Amino acid sequence: MAGGGDDAAAARNKMVVPKRHVTGFPTEEDMEVVVGTVRLGVPAGSTSAVLVKNLYLSCDPWMRGRMSRHDEGATAPGLDFVIGETMVNYGVGKVIDSTHAELTAGDLVWGMSGWEEYTLVTQPESLFKINHTELPLSYYTGVLGMAGLTAYAGFMEVGRPKRGDFVFVSAASGAVGQVAGQLAKIAGCYVVGSAGSDEKVDLLKTKFGFNDAFNYKSETNLTAVLKRCLPDGIDIYFDNVGGATLDTALLHMRQGGRVVVCGMISQYNLEEPDGLRNMFYIIPKAVRVEGFNVGGYFHMYSRFEEEMAGYIKEEKVVVVEDVVEGIESAPAALIGLFSGRNVGKQLVALARE
Ligand code: NAP
Repeated sequence: MAGGGDDAAAARNKMVVPKRHVTGFPTEEDMEVVVGTVRLGVPAGSTSAVLVKNLYLSCDPWMRGRMSRHDEGATAPGLDFVIGETMVNYGVGKVIDSTHAELTAGDLVWGMSGWEEYTLVTQPESLFKINHTELPLSYYTGVLGMAGLTAYAGFMEVGRPKRGDFVFVSAASGAVGQVAGQLAKIAGCYVVGSAGSDEKVDLLKTKFGFNDAFNYKSETNLTAVLKRCLPDGIDIYFDNVGGATLDTALLHMRQGGRVVVCGMISQYNLEEPDGLRNMFYIIPKAVRVEGFNVGGYFHMYSRFEEEMAGYIKEEKVVVVEDVVEGIESAPAALIGLFSGRNVGKQLVALARE
C-alpha cells in the first residue's frame, strides 16, 4: 500500500471552478479555469484514497442542475457546485498513487472525479477499474460509462422492448440517445430518432442504423412528423428532452406503451417549466410513464460493460464522439450541450496517459 504523499513532488493542477450560481442558460463566463498545485501522492495516514491523473472529462447535462442554487427542501439540496471549488463529474483517469485495497498505481479507472488535471478521490468506491483497455479509453466517458449504462438500463430495464416494437428516441444522436437507438435495433425494433440538425439526422440514418429520423428544429408540426414516421404509433418513447416533444409523443402512444423518462434537457434552463396537456391519453391506452436514475443501476455495471464491449467489437454499436482538447475548452463544451453544438458524446481530452 502506497501513500506517503506529504513528501511527494508537487505538480501544477488546472481546475474548472464555478464563479457564480446560474439562473437561465449558463454561459462560459459562469466558470473559470484556475491554476493550483497538487502533491503527486495520497496524503500520509489516509487509508482509502486514490490520486488520479485525469485523462478525459465527460460533459453531461446533469451538471447544469448543480450550477443552480437550491434552497432547503428543493429537489437537489446539498448537490450544488460550490463557488470557487472544482466542479465534479465523471471522468477517465490513471491511478498515480493509492491506499485503496483494490487499486494500484498504473490502473486505469473511470468514475466520479474533478474537472481538473489531478483529483484526490476520497470515496474510491465510486471508481470502476477499466477492463477493456483494448477499446478507446475515451469510450468510458460515454458508451462504456455512465451514458451507456443509462441507455442500457433505461431501454432494456424500464422500456422492456419486444421484437417489432416501434421506438422513438429524442436527442437521438447524443451520448445516451445514440446508444438507446442502437440497442433498439439489436432488440429487433423499428426505431425513429429526432435531432436538432440535418447533419445529425444524416448520422442517425447512415451511421447508427435508425430506420428513420427527423430534424425537430425544421419540422413545424411535431404531430404530423410523428404520424408520418410512426403511422402505427409508438410502443416505447425514450425521452431525453421533455417539454413539447414529450407532450406530443403522449398522443401517439400505442396500447400498453412505455414512456422511458430519461431526461428533460429542454427544461433545464427554464425558470418556469412547460406543462403537459396530453397526460389523459395514458389512461385509455394503459401507457406506463416511468422515470429512472442511472444511480440505481450501477449494480449491473460489470454485466453491462461485458455486453456493450461485445457489441462494440462486433460493430453492432458504433460510437460518435465530439472531443475537444485541453481543460480550457471544458466550459464551452459543457455550455454547447444546451444548444446542441455537440455532435455525439461530448468529452474533453486532457492527456493521453
Ligand atoms: P447529449 O444528448 O449528448 O447532449 C445534449 C443534447 O440535447 C444536445 O446535443 C441537443 O441535441 C439536445 N438538446 C439541447 N437542448 C435541447 C432542447 N431545448 N430541446 C431538445 N433537445 C435539446 O446528452 P446526454 O448526455 O446524452 O443526455 C441526454 C439526456 O439524458 C439529458 O436529458 C440528460 O439529462 C439525460 N440523462 C439522464 C440520466 C438518468 O439517470 N436518468 C443519466 C444521464 C443522462 P439536438 O441537436 O438534437 O437538439
